[in-house]
Amino acid sequence: MLDRSLIIILAALAAVFLVSAALIVHGTIYKTRWGINFISSIECPGCHLVRGIFRMPRNLRQFLWGGSTCPHCGLEVDKWQRPISQDR
Ligand SMILES: [Zn+2]
Repeated sequence: MLDRSLIIILAALAAVFLVSAALIVHGTIYKTRWGINFISSIECPGCHLVRGIFRMPRNLRQFLWGGSTCPHCGLEVDKWQRPISQDR
């Protein structure tokens, strides 16, 4: 009885892990918020200022999903360097 519930818990954890891994792989290929950006330096699409990948998040969305605000022109971009509209 205990063994069966342990197996169910492990299976659930494995399912969560597999779904997360699939989301990250898919997101990295198709550039969704789940993806990981391996590019080490980033260039602002507005003013073409090149910045390092390390930066402080300015808000909760940047903390959770990546992205940054350009210190030069103030353009906010996601982790794929796509501009984010301010009203979202
Ligand atoms: Zn900029």
